[in-house]
Amino acid sequence: MLQPPYPELDDLLTMMGEAGRHLADIEASEGAAGNISICINWPIEPRTRFPLVNEIELPLPVPHLAGATFLVSGSGRRLREIIDEPTANLACIVVNAGGTTGKLYTSYDRRFQNVTSEFNSHLAVHADQISVSDTNFHAVIHAQPLHLTYLSHIPRYQDTHYLNTHLLRWQPETIINLPEGIGLTGFKVPGSPDLMAANVELLRKHRIVVWAKHGVMARSDVSVKRAADRIEYAETAAKYEYLNLCTGEIGEGLSADEIRVICSTFNIQQDIF
Ligand SMILES: [Zn+2]
Repeated sequence: MLQPPYPELDDLLTMMGEAGRHLADIEASEGAAGNISICINWPIEPRTRFPLVNEIELPLPVPHLAGATFLVSGSGRRLREIIDEPTANLACIVVNAGGTTGKLYTSYDRRFQNVTSEFNSHLAVHADQISVSDTNFHAVIHAQPLHLTYLSHIPRYQDTHYLNTHLLRWQPETIINLPEGIGLTGFKVPGSPDLMAANVELLRKHRIVVWAKHGVMARSDVSVKRAADRIEYAETAAKYEYLNLCTGEIGEGLSADEIRVICSTFNIQQDIF
């Protein structure tokens, strides 16, 4: 939830660009992999940056989001290029009354036909989070961080408890930043209703979810860069774990007792350790 004064449209575009560039810098968004969206529930004038308008069907009905504005990456666009040409790579969608259709605002320099094919998951997660928390701002990012995604190909990491107890043991801050741990769903076809349902369910409890054999989705109700941070925290944990596997597992990591002391000192509620 953000308090006034709210960020301007250009500030939001810049923050999406910075998040996209950083995700590429940490090897979480090769080529056109990954997608990003934010939902804004205060009045925004999109036509200063996105003058073209047409009507679209939304992938699912969101009647309680009538009037809300989304900024979302275009299909096939590179997250690292949003920073230099935001309107070429992003679209703006304003939900119509009734919540089944919207106005798609784009720019003359738009370089995509449709918004991301994962927009169904983005929209469903935004809608669910906003109905639960009533936040006026929400950010969702899908990215494909190398080490975290690689670990999700190893059968023993395809278990939520195993994944969390092994990844959250390498730095004291990890449990503080991800106290609900990392959610995990088995492989689901990209863009599918199954993947959308898993994202909604798992992002109710977690701030980030691993899509086995594909990547992650993270959310934040504070900023798009905070959502990107969550991906970086989880990916850094996965890098430590990968390093440990490569060196014959000689690192011991923080013990469960040590992590419990950290949590009691910093007043962190968690049920992983
Ligand atoms: Zn993907």
